[in-house]
Amino acid sequence: MAPTGLYSHKAIADLLFEQGLRSPRGKKIYKSAIHKLLSNPFYCGIMRSNGKDYQGNHEPLVSTELFAKCQDVLSGKARSRRQTRDFTLSGFITCAKCGCAITAELKKEKYAYYHCTNGKGVCDQRSFNANETNLHKQITLDLTKLRISPRMIDIVYKAKLEELAQTKDTSNTALTDARTALKTLATRKSRLVDTYTAGDIDTDLYRSKLTEIDNESVRLTKRIAELEQEATDPLATIELVYSKFKQGISLADEYEAAEPERKRELLSEALSNSMLLNRNIVEVRYKSPYAVFARTPFNASFSELLGD
Ligand SMILES: [Zn+2]
Repeated sequence: MAPTGLYSHKAIADLLFEQGLRSPRGKKIYKSAIHKLLSNPFYCGIMRSNGKDYQGNHEPLVSTELFAKCQDVLSGKARSRRQTRDFTLSGFITCAKCGCAITAELKKEKYAYYHCTNGKGVCDQRSFNANETNLHKQITLDLTKLRISPRMIDIVYKAKLEELAQTKDTSNTALTDARTALKTLATRKSRLVDTYTAGDIDTDLYRSKLTEIDNESVRLTKRIAELEQEATDPLATIELVYSKFKQGISLADEYEAAEPERKRELLSEALSNSMLLNRNIVEVRYKSPYAVFARTPFNASFSELLGD
């Protein structure tokens, strides 16, 4: 069962205990003993002495092939089910040195360690293993930068709403103007046709004037569509940003306390990428609008917050 990787050493220890296998003192066989047992080449007929292997005279218990398979699983070369699980931070970190993805391995069956995949084959960061608990601490610390004084958030929110009300007025004026201009063009076009039909202008002049009017109509129709689009969006955007601001206040605390699954949700919400170098997260990049909070000091002045 060991070479499939489906059973942890603890599971094997439990199973052997159930089957009646005891240590000399009648206790459960330790996980470390299971590991030792599985890595001992004695069972495939090899004698190990002074770090060298010799073919032994005893009857092998398992084939060399099965033994080799066991070693692959033990050393993590073969992918076991336990190792294919998604690590909490996988997908959120890249290597600061070579830009490759960061992958993780379980050590002692519960401690996740992250390192560069060295996909380009030129990176020394593959040998730097970063402890997951440590990385969570670093991320939490970085998330505290997203804290902005709640009072400031409310002030900025109200200011943005006022600003929106004003721009709404101006964009409404622009929209009315554009619609009026389009109507005027239609009137000019019908007059031009009348004049031409009456024989008061020649064909060349008629055609050039007609093209002029048509081009202007196309431009205005496009502009009207743009202004209509602009008029519907901003309030929703401001409300969204406001709720994110509020969320930003507690993001670090929530992250610190969250279960792995929730941690991943929070990271996908706020983080675009982070970089790992020498076991440390050296750079964290946030998604919008969190990126703005990260750049803004906690007791930012009014103008600092309003600037975009
Ligand atoms: Zn790398």
